[in-house]
Amino acid sequence: MNQEKKQFEDGLIFDSKVKEKISDHVSFFLKSLGNHVDKPGTKGTPNRVAKMYDELLSGYATDINKLLNNALFEVKYDEMVVVKDIDFFSLCEHHMLPFHGTVSVGYLPKDKVIGLSKIPRLVDMFSKRLQVQERMTQEIAHAIDGLISPKGVGVVVEGKHLCASMRGVKKPNVMMSTSALLGVFKKNHSSREEFLNHIK
Ligand SMILES: [Zn+2]
Repeated sequence: MNQEKKQFEDGLIFDSKVKEKISDHVSFFLKSLGNHVDKPGTKGTPNRVAKMYDELLSGYATDINKLLNNALFEVKYDEMVVVKDIDFFSLCEHHMLPFHGTVSVGYLPKDKVIGLSKIPRLVDMFSKRLQVQERMTQEIAHAIDGLISPKGVGVVVEGKHLCASMRGVKKPNVMMSTSALLGVFKKNHSSREEFLNHIK
């Protein structure tokens, strides 16, 4: 057993006991690689990995109400709001390899808007989980729809998937694009065009 494990504190997702277990499993994994592994170099790796996943998956612990912290405002504004090119990093649930890229969000308010800085936080909440890009796109759109009931919401995600570039088809430059369109963004051609022009 590794002495350093006593250092674990309860994290956002994993308590200290779970982190110890994850660390044990990573030790087992490294040992399974046999003598190829540089032992001085990987001495602290199991503990680092256990701590790291608590951070990378912290989106499961986000409370959406705390996240918003009263940043929903009643405003007489009926033009489109667009926040584009929000960087995200996620882990695909199939391989636990990263996929990353940008999220662009637009909505047409009815009588409420969301504080600008809260939209990237919402993206973090859904991206820092084990995900598939299609579901993440839908979840962000539906969260905004549920929070402020706008006339329409659009979310476009462009992602590069390391599981498609490092392994499998090994195509490093493939970009996957997904979208979720709700309300007038789905029904109304001109709203959809306006949104898509904004995020070009
Ligand atoms: Zn994958």
